[in-house]
This record gives sequence, structure tokens and C-alpha cells, in this order.
Amino acid sequence: MKTRSLVSLAALPAAALMAALALTGCSTSASGTTDGELSVVASTNVYGDIAQTIAGDAVKVTSLMNNPSQDPHSFEASAQNQLALSKADVVIENGGGYDDFMDTMLKAGGTKKATVINVVDLSGKKAADGELNEHVWYDFPTVQKLTDKLVDVLSKADASQATTFKQNGEAFTAKLAGLQNREAELKQQYAGAGAAVTEPVPLYMLDAIGLKNKTPEAFSAAIEAGTDVSPAVLKETLDLISGGSVKLLAYNAQTSGPETEKVLSAAKSDGVAVVPVTETLPSGKDYISWMTANLDAIGKALAA
Ligand SMILES: [Zn+2]
Repeated sequence: MKTRSLVSLAALPAAALMAALALTGCSTSASGTTDGELSVVASTNVYGDIAQTIAGDAVKVTSLMNNPSQDPHSFEASAQNQLALSKADVVIENGGGYDDFMDTMLKAGGTKKATVINVVDLSGKKAADGELNEHVWYDFPTVQKLTDKLVDVLSKADASQATTFKQNGEAFTAKLAGLQNREAELKQQYAGAGAAVTEPVPLYMLDAIGLKNKTPEAFSAAIEAGTDVSPAVLKETLDLISGGSVKLLAYNAQTSGPETEKVLSAAKSDGVAVVPVTETLPSGKDYISWMTANLDAIGKALAA
């Protein structure tokens, strides 16, 4: 939004530019913020999309990670990211070790006093067996908590838009409820069915549907961490795929490597449905259409 208005200002002659800036100055004091526009910075485009949906077009939202072909776990922040963060009124980070660069940049200073929302903290989820599954955006109750939090924080930051934030939050909540209903329907039909994953990415969703994750823990943990998979663990995983006890393989398309590709081709040749999943928002989708597509793909795999 801001970028667009700067580009159009640049095309104006000097006198008109002065007038335009004066007008901007006018609307600034009305909204009560220093630059006239609330700014939200999210670590990934998943949270950025949710924030934009709830905040509406009058709020500038910046997502630091938004490349669908990049592995978010190895993201490195830039000076440009630091600059965006320094101007933020509201910051959304995942937490749980997923996007530690956010805290690093916030501590580095130069940041105006932003309200920081940590979604893992908000989720209330705790580590099970010493391992926290940090992919909490696949958990709709957590996204609901984030929605409520955003409405609250944004309304405090700019009370003049509170009605808009509330209405957008309600509309988004209704769509989240639809997704949760879909999970419940699938659960009724398919609870107890086996599933395999290359990484823990979609596990909150699979859990909500009542699917049993049968993947050897050592496999998905190694893939997630980018460490080597031992031949024994790889064989155990391939045997699981060919053994007929899993209905689907949820495959993280953002971090493929030789081991996951072996598992993928085993699934294809053994007739196990493959459900591609990603960590960040695929291009052309918003959060709701993305999660709807994930549930459609899982439903189709289970029905096969
Ligand atoms: Zn991950």
C-alpha cells in the first residue's frame, strides 16, 4: 500500500507533491499514528495474509518470508527486513524456535514500541516428549486465538477502525469454523486411519482429523532438522509406505531431498495418495483457500 502511494507521488510535479504530502499530513493526525497508517510486520506470509484479512486495506502489512520455494527454517533476514520491523506498530512472530531472527532484530533496536504477538505462546501448546511442533498455523483453534488477539491489538492501536477490525474478525472466524467443521466431518468418517509425513508440518491438522501418524519419529525429525537419515530409518519408512497401513503421505514440497524423494516415489508406486503441503502460503492463495485445499486433498486421499 505504502509502496504504491510512493510510486504515484513520484510521478507528480513538485507543487502537486507538496500538496499531496500536506494532505497526507492532515489525515495522519486524525488517525493518531505517526505516519498515518498502521504497520503490521509478520515473519511469514501465512500470518501476513491473516493480518491483512483482519486489518483490511487501510493497514500496511509486510511479510518477511514469502518465497514458496524457500525453506523457512533456513531463512536469513536482511537489512530491508530490519527496516520494515523498525517501523512496525504490530509484529507477529511464530515463536517456538521457528523464526528466531525476529527476536534478534527486535533486540537489535531502532524499533518503535511495537506490540509483539508470539503465536506459539498464544497457542498454549507445550512440548510433548521434549519436542514442540512449532507449525501451529495448521491448528485452527490457535488461528482463532490469533484472530481475537489481532482484533484487540489493532483496535487499541487505531480505535477509529475498531468496527472494521471487529467485522473482519467475525467474517474470518466464520470461515475458520467452516474449516473446523470439515475436520470434524472427516474425523467422523476416517478417525484411526494411518498417515505418513515427511515433516511434522501438517500434524495438528492430521491430529484434528483423528489420523494416526505412523512415520518413524527419527525420519521426520531428521528431515525437519536437515540432518542425515540412517539407512535403517529410511528402510523402516519405506516399509511403512509399502506395508499398506497408511492411507496418505503428507509431503512437504518446500524441503525435498534424496530421502524424501525416495519415500515419495515409493508412495506413488505403491498407490499411497500423496498430499503436498507447504510451510508458507502458496502463491495465488489466501489462508482460507489454502487450508480448504489442504482439507480437500486429505479428504480425497482418505476416500480413495
Ligand atoms: Zn517446518
